[in-house]
Amino acid sequence: MDAYDVLVIGGGPAGYVAAIRAAQLGFRVACVDAFERGGKASLGGTCLNVGCIPSKALLDSSERFEMIRHDAAEHGIQVEGARLDLAKMLGRKESVVDKLTGGIAYLFKKNKVTSFHGLGRLVRQDEGGWVVDAAGTEVVARHVIVATGSSPRELPLAPFGGHVVENSGALAFEAVPGQLGIIGAGVIGVELGSVWRRLGAQVTILEALPGFLMAADEAVSKEALKQFQKQGLEFHFGVQITAVTPDESGVTVTYTEKEQEVTARFDKLIVSIGRVPNTAGLGAEAVGLELDERGFVKVDSHYRTNLPGVYAIGDVIGGAMLAHKAEEEGVALAETLAGQAGHVNYDVIPWVIYTSPEIAWAGLTEQQARDKGHTVKTGQFPFSANGRALGHGDPRGFVKVVADADTDRILGVHMVGPNVSELMGEVVAIMEFGGSAEDLARTVHAHPTLSEVVKEAALAVDKRALHL
Ligand SMILES: Cc1cc2nc3c(=O)[nH]c(=O)nc-3n(C[C@H](O)[C@H](O)[C@H](O)COP(=O)(O)OP(=O)(O)OC[C@H]3O[C@@H](n4cnc5c(N)ncnc54)[C@H](O)[C@@H]3O)c2cc1C
Repeated sequence: MDAYDVLVIGGGPAGYVAAIRAAQLGFRVACVDAFERGGKASLGGTCLNVGCIPSKALLDSSERFEMIRHDAAEHGIQVEGARLDLAKMLGRKESVVDKLTGGIAYLFKKNKVTSFHGLGRLVRQDEGGWVVDAAGTEVVARHVIVATGSSPRELPLAPFGGHVVENSGALAFEAVPGQLGIIGAGVIGVELGSVWRRLGAQVTILEALPGFLMAADEAVSKEALKQFQKQGLEFHFGVQITAVTPDESGVTVTYTEKEQEVTARFDKLIVSIGRVPNTAGLGAEAVGLELDERGFVKVDSHYRTNLPGVYAIGDVIGGAMLAHKAEEEGVALAETLAGQAGHVNYDVIPWVIYTSPEIAWAGLTEQQARDKGHTVKTGQFPFSANGRALGHGDPRGFVKVVADADTDRILGVHMVGPNVSELMGEVVAIMEFGGSAEDLARTVHAHPTLSEVVKEAALAVDKRALHL
C-alpha cells in the first residue's frame, strides 16, 4: 500500500492549496478529487470549474457587450450592429477554465503531488495512519485533510433538473432566456442575474429576506440596490415560494408577497439559496467523523476533527464560503502540520460581489461596530468626485471607512463602485497591520486613480476630505 504523509480529499481551492503548501514543506503528498467537466477529471473544484472563474469570465464578457451597445457612444465611439455570439462567449469562458484547471495539474506535477481521480473515502485507522480508498486504490496517510467543499442547496419545492438550474446550468444556457427567474438575491443570484440581463434577459429575483444584502453595510446595500434596479433587475423581497411547476417550455412559480398570491412564468429558473457541505461518499458515518447539526464537519481552531489525524478545511467546515478563505485555511493547516504557526485572521476577510457597480467590504459594518460597543466615526467619499472614475465614465458609488472614534483604528471599509474589488488589497493590508484612518489618509496614492477615493474616505473620517 502506498504511504503518504498527507492525503487531501478534494482538489478545490482548500485542497489543492493545502496539497501544494504541504509539498513545499517537504511532505509526501497525494490528493484525490472527484470533479469532472465534460466527462474528464478537472482539478480546482467548484471555484475553477463552475464558480468564481467561469462566472467572472461571463461577467467580463457581458459587461463588454453592454458597454459596446450602451456606453461606447458617450465616449464618441459609434458601433453599429454589435450582436451576441453566445456560443463563442461560452467557449471563451470554457477556455479560461481549461487553462486554470490544467494549471493546477501542472502545479501538482511540479510539486510532486500524486493525483488520484475519483472519490476519496476514509476506511479505517491503522498503525501507519489512516487508510483511505483513493479512487479505488487503498493508500495510507499520517494526516488526512478533508476539503470536499460544498454543493448548491436545493429548494425542496423545486428540485434541480430541466428548466430549474443551479450555478453550473446557469453558466451554460444555450440561448438567452427571455424571462429569467432567480430564487435568492445573494452574491451568486445578483452576479448571474447581471450576466443574463446584460445579454438580454428580463430578470426577476425573488428573495425570502425582507431586504437586500443584509450582511453588507446598509449604505452600500441601499446604493447597490438602487443601481441594480436602474439597470432593470426586478427584485421582490420578503416573498415565500409556495409552488414551482416546471414543464416542457419553462417554469411557473407561485409565491406570496405582502400577503398576495402571485404567479410568474419563466423560461428558466436559477435557484441560488446557499450551499450545503459535501460529506456524502466520504465514509464519515462509518468512521465516526463528527458533523454539526447542519452537516458541516466539526473542527477546532486548528482544523482538527474529532478523529486523530483527520483535519477539515474550506467550505465543508462552513463560515465564509469563499475561495480565498478556503485557500488560507489550506496554507495555515499545512504549516501547522509542519510545526509552524499557521493562522487565518477571520476578522479581515474581503468580500466582493463582481456586479456593476462592484461591491466590496472587509471588517465590521457601521452597525456591527456600534453593536460591539465601539464609538464610531465614519468617512465617506463618492466616485463622482474622482477624476479617474469620471474619465472611465463610471462615477457611481462611494467608499466608506468605519473607524474607532477613540483609537482611530480602521474597523471596516465598505465600497460600491467601479473596480472596487481591486481596491480591497490595500484595505486588507492596512487592516492586517492594525492601521488607522490617519495611516490610510497619509499614504500617498497615485493620481489619477480610483484608489484616491479610499484615501479621501479616510480623510473624511476627520472631516478633511480635500476634493468634496
Ligand atoms: C457561481 C459561483 C461563484 C462563486 N464566486 C466566487 C468568487 O468570486 N470568489 C470567491 O471567493 N468564492 C466564490 N465562490 C465560492 C467558491 O467557489 C468556494 O468557496 C470554493 O470553491 C470552496 O473551495 P473548497 O476547496 O472548500 O471546495 P470546492 O471548490 O467545492 O472543492 C471541493 C472538491 O472536492 C471534491 N469532492 C467532494 N467530495 C469528494 C470525495 N468524497 N472524494 C473526492 N473528491 C471529492 C469536489 O468534487 C470538488 O472538486 C463561488 C461559488 C459559486 C457556486
